Amino acid sequence: MDIDIKVTGVIAEMTHPEAIHPAGSGFLLKIGFFLNDTLKVIGEDGKVIKTQRCYEQKILTRYSTQIRDASYVEQLAYRTLHENMDMDPQAAKKAKAEVARTIMNKMESARYDDPSIWNICLEIRVECTIEINDEEVGEPNGEHGCNRLLERLGDDDCAICHEEFNSTKHIVVTTCHHTYHRSCLFKWFSHGTHTCPTCRSDLAPVAGLPIKF
Ligand SMILES: [Zn+2]
Ligand SMILES: [Zn+2]
Repeated sequence: MDIDIKVTGVIAEMTHPEAIHPAGSGFLLKIGFFLNDTLKVIGEDGKVIKTQRCYEQKILTRYSTQIRDASYVEQLAYRTLHENMDMDPQAAKKAKAEVARTIMNKMESARYDDPSIWNICLEIRVECTIEINDEEVGEPNGEHGCNRLLERLGDDDCAICHEEFNSTKHIVVTTCHHTYHRSCLFKWFSHGTHTCPTCRSDLAPVAGLPIKF
């Protein structure tokens, strides 16, 4: 199993207090986590035989006084990615330090630029690619693990084109747990709609647009 992690952080919004904020509560931090999990199954010849993407998002709200130190933020990152967003535990372990570092750095630089800032909305995107061998498919790796991506394939068909999933096409599992061909979903987005074709959930971050705080 090969795990590759990329983390990016962007300050989406900073606002000043509308009223005097409670003394000692620090500033309000909203962290929008967006996880893009990619699973690649590699065949005997070293070629990718299956690619699946799975997206999850979550927004956390904390006061800066609740953010105690780097190890606390690491724990928060691990819990959010693994327990709330179903990221593979090994991948979440690998990602947590970088996610925590990104959060701490962005918080510091926002406050450095303007110490009177009261609300900070911070967007953290985590891209995780897991490569597994064909033989590893089906091996137990915990409740979450990468096999959950394969399980999601199930006996579904694509809710856009109604064709059964063919293993060679890219499959996308959305944050609302609906499953589509990647090409079908992005064709749908190209009409300017960024909601799920099945349940109308907001899929703007899946289409590469910012998280709505
Ligand atoms: Zn389709
Ligand atoms: Zn949906």
